[in-house]
Amino acid sequence: MNKEILDILACPQCKGDLKINSTKENKTEIFEGQFICEACGLSFPIKNGIPNFLSGGPENS
Ligand SMILES: [Zn+2]
Repeated sequence: MNKEILDILACPQCKGDLKINSTKENKTEIFEGQFICEACGLSFPIKNGIPNFLSGGPENS
């Protein structure tokens, strides 16, 4: 997932800016980590370079 996608993504809940907390990345791409919305605290996992906005939040049970 290219880091530039951050410029066009916004929090689906509050439309706030998203921050990336990556655990595995190179100069241009994120492979593992999570998006975090600083405004409302929502977070989404990024796995294998693919952000999962469908799981909705830290708990995905
Ligand atoms: Zn938000």
